[in-house]
Amino acid sequence: MPETPLPAYVDARKAFSQNASVSGFLELKKLERTAACLADDSGRLQAELHFSTDSGGRRRIGGHLSAVVQLTCQRCLEPVAVDLDEDFDLLLVPDETAAGNLDKEYDPWICADHRIVLAELLDEQILLGMPIVSYHRQGPCAEAERLESGSDEAQESDVEKRANSPFAVLAELQKTDLKE
Ligand SMILES: [Zn+2]
Repeated sequence: MPETPLPAYVDARKAFSQNASVSGFLELKKLERTAACLADDSGRLQAELHFSTDSGGRRRIGGHLSAVVQLTCQRCLEPVAVDLDEDFDLLLVPDETAAGNLDKEYDPWICADHRIVLAELLDEQILLGMPIVSYHRQGPCAEAERLESGSDEAQESDVEKRANSPFAVLAELQKTDLKE
């Protein structure tokens, strides 16, 4: 694991033509939207990003991030550590219109000027990678659930929780953003 901080931004005018790669860590508290969802925003993510131009002349940002984040258990409301490990493959576009015109197989990253702000990009990727609901899988909280489970009623309320979770709402908002 590289023990260097990620740069604040990457210059799009150079990164793609040079096939640049960057890697390092970023404090979770610098990810504005992610930090708002965490029970505790201490800790770091590790990420690597690769910038390239594909055969169609499209500017691609591929990469990977990993982090252990403290979410709130939706059963007992205590913090629960969740491992995140996300790959991403984004296509750089200048605006919402260009993003809307992309084939569905591509995930856009909108960058109006030459600065690709890594905290913003990783903030979005980490949010997309977050589980819709998080529960303790071990310990007293999980034991209590095991005793209670088995009824259809419990399963139904789980589905309801999933639909109302803040992450599900976020994912929907992001989809809407891109369509506009
Ligand atoms: Zn719990």
